[in-house]
Amino acid sequence: MASRKHISIRGTVQGVGFRPYVYGLAKRLSISGFVRNSDGGVEIEAEGDEVEAFLAELQDRPPVLAEITDIGIKNLKFRNETGFQIIESYPTVSGLALVPPDIATCHDCLSDFTETGNRRHLYPFTNCTNCGPRYTIVQDVPYDRHTTTMAAFRMCPACEAEYHDPDDRRFHAQPNACPVCGPQISAPISEVREWLSDGAIVAIKGLGGYHLACDATNHGAVERLRERKRRGNKPFAIMAQSLEEVERFCEVDASERSFLAGARRPIVLLRRRAEAGLSTAIAPGNRHLGVMLPYTPLHQLLFLDAPFTALVMTSGNLSEEPIVSREEELTRLAPLADRFLTHDRAIQTRMDDSVVRVFRGRHLFVRRSRGFAPEPIDLGMPVRDLIAVGGELKNTFCLTTDHYAILSQHIGDLENYQTLEFFRETLDHMRRFFRVRPEAVAHDLHPGYLSTRAAFEMADLPRIGVQHHHAHVASCMAERRLAGKVIGVAFDGTGYGTDGAIWGGEVLLCDYAEFERRYHLRYVPMAGGDAAVREPWRVALAYLRDCGLQAADAPALTVVPEKRRLAVETMLERRVQTVNTSSCGRLFDAVSALLGVCLENCYEAQAAVELEAMAFDGAPAFGFDFGGNEIDLRECIRELVSAKGKGQPVSLLSARFHQTVANAIIAACEKLRASEGLTRVCLSGGSFQNVTLLEATVGGLERAGFETFWQSKIPGNDGGLSLGQAAIANALARSS
Ligand code: ZN
Ligand code: ZN
Ligand code: FE
Repeated sequence: MASRKHISIRGTVQGVGFRPYVYGLAKRLSISGFVRNSDGGVEIEAEGDEVEAFLAELQDRPPVLAEITDIGIKNLKFRNETGFQIIESYPTVSGLALVPPDIATCHDCLSDFTETGNRRHLYPFTNCTNCGPRYTIVQDVPYDRHTTTMAAFRMCPACEAEYHDPDDRRFHAQPNACPVCGPQISAPISEVREWLSDGAIVAIKGLGGYHLACDATNHGAVERLRERKRRGNKPFAIMAQSLEEVERFCEVDASERSFLAGARRPIVLLRRRAEAGLSTAIAPGNRHLGVMLPYTPLHQLLFLDAPFTALVMTSGNLSEEPIVSREEELTRLAPLADRFLTHDRAIQTRMDDSVVRVFRGRHLFVRRSRGFAPEPIDLGMPVRDLIAVGGELKNTFCLTTDHYAILSQHIGDLENYQTLEFFRETLDHMRRFFRVRPEAVAHDLHPGYLSTRAAFEMADLPRIGVQHHHAHVASCMAERRLAGKVIGVAFDGTGYGTDGAIWGGEVLLCDYAEFERRYHLRYVPMAGGDAAVREPWRVALAYLRDCGLQAADAPALTVVPEKRRLAVETMLERRVQTVNTSSCGRLFDAVSALLGVCLENCYEAQAAVELEAMAFDGAPAFGFDFGGNEIDLRECIRELVSAKGKGQPVSLLSARFHQTVANAIIAACEKLRASEGLTRVCLSGGSFQNVTLLEATVGGLERAGFETFWQSKIPGNDGGLSLGQAAIANALARSS
């Protein structure tokens, strides 16, 4: 039966080939009417006999990159119109347009790129509606060529023809370009390959900023890069020419392979093989290697017939500053790079590479940025317009509106002026983009966080302070769309507690509005504040004292100069410059030091990372106990120290320790199930990036009959805090 309907579609539907797809479908089903980008997504008017089939097809088989979150359908008066058109988009004022993330070069574009005689043969800016830069070039919504940094390039007749041809793969591909009319690189690529193979460090302009690149097999070059970046032992990521290359130096399973080679192309942390031929300076002391595959045609070009098959590709920045993305900032890279490969397509938005680990076939985010941000999280319920400013380390912020939470890309550690500026510019940009009119701002309770101070600067907005670990659990709940009360296990490095102590081994009973702290790791004193985070041996001493043991009982600690050790012992004894902590991160630090694995953290969580690298699954646990609401691991520490003394291998001890922490968590959950009748457990916090701990905990909870939730769409570390803050603020604003 002939009818006419107005269809409004929301979700990620702009810049993903949605309109040509609708056009093709309409032609196939003899539908007349039009489609256009609207401020809130895509708008269609469709009339004909097959409107129902048209609607069904739209919902069942949308284009690969599209994500439909909402469809609204209204009946209209039949007009007896003929023909279907794609109408130019026009801006309106309300609604939410979702800008797609940047997508790796698709298969078809790669063929264009490699095919001799193709007009885009070896052209490093080849893209189409299915791939290419998106969020990093968008200046405003709706997403159209004139609102991107491609506005500076006028399309040649051939590109223009593709752009206007609904049957072409490049129909309305906003970054469409070719060698005649598009962006150009600053140096011949053959020269760049020579620089790299000669051992130079080359700053290369990418999608979201500059990388610093060097040949991953050239030890001297990698060491020089490490020195110049003042990076300690923090691992570098590499970009490998192909999946086969990756498999030469890492173990890769099927799901890891699909993330590596997929459309989003994050850095995937993989187990490295022993004999890889790569420089040992890439990730010293680390069993994992961060690897990604080329994701732009420029990367493909670099590796084409190159004398190298893997490049170190690290963010172009100095230690913790934001990634350099603009030509006027290049002076900051001058001391770091020997050479520059730049191009004339401007980067609107800075964006680091995303980093994931794979757990049970799903990715766990270490860092959520390129390829993912600013994809919204559909919360499955209406939310107020809010800003949540996030934490201090691995900061992201979060905007909520409509049914969505939109997390910023990874901003970084808010500990210097440049990163704070990055935070501010990104917040301004995204507020404008997503037209959020915030009613309140949510922040961490820590008064010293720069993010908290930024919240206080928003003087016109009511503020909602949120406890760090409550936010972690709420973040997991929001991602998994849970309502009601849950058991929340938040294990991490550092979070401001409501009692003045530093929390981080917390078992909460909570919903969005409220939390009760039911169990936590037994307090130990941390001597010397931040110094105790840098120097795990300090916490090891505190744990020994708590167990009634001496430094002499842990021979690994004898490498610490006696004078320094005694100074810390005195601080612990007299409780000067100490603060109590229940941090799981510090517990891992202590054990790592006691076992002689790592006595000093050169980068965040190094001691825990190296301790995990030693462990394997399924070792017998040590003992533990509960004292009131404290999870007491003194027995574990005593047994561990004694077993070490008897010569048990460190790998076994590490495995046994991981199992003990998991068992203690499971025991706490069982107590809460017995008293409260709750069976849902949310695991969050940076400690669960430790896949050995996560597997032992999740596996044990499942065997014990719990329903277990962890985070996969957003980081479970502090990079996901902002979502939890927003979810809590939303609940509080609602109830007040
Ligand atoms: Zn493409
Ligand atoms: Zn052209
Ligand atoms: Fe945290």
